Amino acid sequence: MIRKLLFVSLVLLIPYISFSQPEAAVEDWKGKTILLIGAHPDDDAYSIATLGMLQANGNEVYIAILTTGNVGTQDPELSMIDLANIRRLEEQAALAAMGIPLDHYINFGYDDGMLEYENKKEVVAKLVRVIRQVRPDVLFSFDPGKGEQRWHKADHRASSYLAADAARAAMWPLLFQGQITNEGLEAHTIPAYVLYDSSEDDINTWVDISDYKERKIKAMSQYVSQWSSGWYKYTGPELSDEEAKVVKERVSKRIKYKDGKPVEGFRYYEGLPDNIGR
Ligand SMILES: [Zn+2]
Repeated sequence: MIRKLLFVSLVLLIPYISFSQPEAAVEDWKGKTILLIGAHPDDDAYSIATLGMLQANGNEVYIAILTTGNVGTQDPELSMIDLANIRRLEEQAALAAMGIPLDHYINFGYDDGMLEYENKKEVVAKLVRVIRQVRPDVLFSFDPGKGEQRWHKADHRASSYLAADAARAAMWPLLFQGQITNEGLEAHTIPAYVLYDSSEDDINTWVDISDYKERKIKAMSQYVSQWSSGWYKYTGPELSDEEAKVVKERVSKRIKYKDGKPVEGFRYYEGLPDNIGR
């Protein structure tokens, strides 16, 4: 009996041990509005199973991507316009595979690889507008770093800081106040952050994606121009059976496991956006 009680209390404690940061485990979230900000039309891949799970569990998931991904290829035959169109369709197919509504997808249309050189005030103003329109309870973003700056490649680095700066600006009614005076929007403070592509040491929240692993593989397999031989020579969205198998294996290998379960890992932060990096 005592052993049974010990086992039961341990099982009850597991969520609090494994998911120490959010008060309720991410798997139990309901009725929240979630916004992801990313740089490229496959940056949702870091969290796509979690996002699909959240949408299925009665939350509303929105995806805001800053660039069209229009240089991400080694195929010399593809133009920037071709690639922007291909990657838009790929991302829409991936989101559809995860059950995320297509009208929840926003792309700002900036050029891939150039995000750091864009006018920051303009980009932040656009992100602030989306934050004030969507009014998320939780922001998913590249992790700008905890304690010190986290290194990311160019657009990812820019996206991490632009998202943090926009989250901060959105809460101040006198910043970008024209949106409030002229567009009827209101200031909005995002209370919680799920930061992806964090340093391993900073990850404090592992989401069990057991029920969404196959869908994640299917979703990521839609990124044909990124994950298949289409990276070197794009021949269309359809994959041969053989190549589909290769892509599936490649994608599967990227999935992390913890205690035998497939997971996605994040740094969860709750509080004012001023302190995201602390
Ligand atoms: Zn990216």
